Amino acid sequence: MSALPLLHRPLTTCLLVAVACISHSTTAATISRLTPPSERFASGNDAPVIARFLPGQLFDLQATVQPDPGQAIVNFAFSVDGMSVTDRFRPEGLARTSIVTESGDPARCIASETGRTTGASGCTLVAGLPGNTAVISQRAFSKGVPGVHVLEIVAQQSDGTLVRASGNFEIVGIDDGAGAVAKNIIVFLGDGMGAAQRTAGRILAKGYAQGKARGLLTMDTFPETGMVMTASLNSVVTDSAPGMQNYVTGNKANNNQEGVFPDDTLAAFDNPRVEYLSEYLHALQHKSLGIVTTADVFDATPAANAVHTSARGNGTGIVDQFLDDRDLTGLTVLMGGGRKWFLPNASDSTSPQSANGSQRRSGSDYVLPSDIVNGWRTKVGAIDPQRDLIADFQQAGFAYASDKGTLDELTVGGRAPKQLLGLFAYSNMNVAYDKIAGRRGDGTVVDAFGFPDQPMLDEMTAAALDVLVQNPNGFVAMIEGASIDKQAHLMDSDRWPLEVIEFDRAIAVAKEFAQKHPDTLVIVTADHECSGAALIGASIASSSTLAEHPDAGNTVVGTYDAAKFPKYQIAADGYPVTTNVEGKLLIGYGANADRYETWLPNTFPTLDTQQPFPPSQSPANPNVRNENVGHFVSGQVPGDQAVHTATDIPLSAYGRGARLFHGVFDNTEVFFKLGQAAIGGAAE
Ligand SMILES: [Zn+2]
Repeated sequence: MSALPLLHRPLTTCLLVAVACISHSTTAATISRLTPPSERFASGNDAPVIARFLPGQLFDLQATVQPDPGQAIVNFAFSVDGMSVTDRFRPEGLARTSIVTESGDPARCIASETGRTTGASGCTLVAGLPGNTAVISQRAFSKGVPGVHVLEIVAQQSDGTLVRASGNFEIVGIDDGAGAVAKNIIVFLGDGMGAAQRTAGRILAKGYAQGKARGLLTMDTFPETGMVMTASLNSVVTDSAPGMQNYVTGNKANNNQEGVFPDDTLAAFDNPRVEYLSEYLHALQHKSLGIVTTADVFDATPAANAVHTSARGNGTGIVDQFLDDRDLTGLTVLMGGGRKWFLPNASDSTSPQSANGSQRRSGSDYVLPSDIVNGWRTKVGAIDPQRDLIADFQQAGFAYASDKGTLDELTVGGRAPKQLLGLFAYSNMNVAYDKIAGRRGDGTVVDAFGFPDQPMLDEMTAAALDVLVQNPNGFVAMIEGASIDKQAHLMDSDRWPLEVIEFDRAIAVAKEFAQKHPDTLVIVTADHECSGAALIGASIASSSTLAEHPDAGNTVVGTYDAAKFPKYQIAADGYPVTTNVEGKLLIGYGANADRYETWLPNTFPTLDTQQPFPPSQSPANPNVRNENVGHFVSGQVPGDQAVHTATDIPLSAYGRGARLFHGVFDNTEVFFKLGQAAIGGAAE
């Protein structure tokens, strides 16, 4: 155990710009990163506080310390409010607080829990740091007392010199007894769904009469709507990983990161962690977690509810962690695409895919360092591309649905399995436009992907709720309409509006559930807007003549009065009979790459590079799709796809605790509102 003189302060003046407060004025030792991130550490300002946590929520403390040349870090201690970090909020005592002296090796990560290095992969530093840099961690810390707390790190190098830095964080109190609690929390995440996407879905699904919408989307009927700021820790424009995790950790992550803070090691699974809503409420209230998506289940949005990694692309490890750490998250339902990560890859083939479609690879898997395993009580993991993960889920008691038919059988007559895994495609599922065409008898596209019998999101939602409702302690569910984003990236103006309709039909299922179970809170939001979509107006060429006008946008694009009102007919299945109507809604893109526009539907979806066996009929990208036949639209962004934007997005809330969601707020604020609703309750 360490006996560092924590309260001893060096006589020299702290130089705020140098960040570290050091005992010898000649030393160059610095602390270049202190986690959780704060403005106190970064700029010397106490406000605004960056990192906020609920009482008892676990998070890691970490510092990157660069000792003087020739020196090594031999000892360290974290303190909070001048006291060694021994605060334990939870009766379970999940927080690990021991501090062990480390000495010896030069470049390394130092684990507080064991005092041993955190494993070879965990100790590879990012480029540019001196070789004797130490990354030191105090895993799974928590604090119960509300308010702002000062975090200090003191590290000692081999010649005895101390180096110090401080930051701060806030514990956000829960207002106990504010009202009845929300037992069930359902988060609908429309990936890329900004106000324009919502509006387009309504225009197609409902239409207008006398200048008024003929009806509302279900999400429009929710009593509270606010606007959400979506930036990530390192950019005004977020990607989907922090876009989701910010809602369910209360903290900002860098782009590509989920359930973690940034660090200075290369390993993707060793970053300082922050506890998810699912983990927090599973530990405190024994709630279950359900994750449902139309994407590949390894994708950023689903993973950012249960998996801790700095690399959203590391699919093998991500899907393994879903199962292996289910005791932490309460994972009970996992449904979507992504079978390619669950199929064994016997040879660890590095070719684009194995013959069976497996994309499991050693390089995207993990073995966790011992301090994470001991601090967070995780499974250690294994590098096992040969793992049959579907069999392992079944071994763990999950029923497995491979298509809509088996999903129906599992949930027929009101019975439901205790746990459910559904994997309906190799990667992302087909989109509503193509699934519906398949159900109406034109299976061309879904057949080409090899999965003709995929459920719609409302059907997956109903099945998930049948499973989750069995837990008397309640559940957290995240249900994602993933391809609103994916098809907006591709600027496919016929496909993403139908994704909004599919998403809204799933919301209707949850609203009905919440009416039967009034202790349920449903929120509908997005991680970010995608594509800068703009509803320009409507086509003034009839659909039959559209093809004759592709190179002359001005003869097609009706604006203002000329647009009148688009008129779509809705079939009995809830989707437009066709999107190729007179007065078709025309959509422009403010965040677009170059593309060719015909204003007509594309028979095949544009190439999805995640698919192991994409159909050959797919155009490669919007840069070449309809080349020579379409109207050229010059882009403003590099690459061949539209990008996310920084625009605020709408959030709507229904049910128990919905009153907490109004005004304009940061995405991290949603976490504290959900925590309040689930633990302290909310006024009706
Ligand atoms: Zn996206």
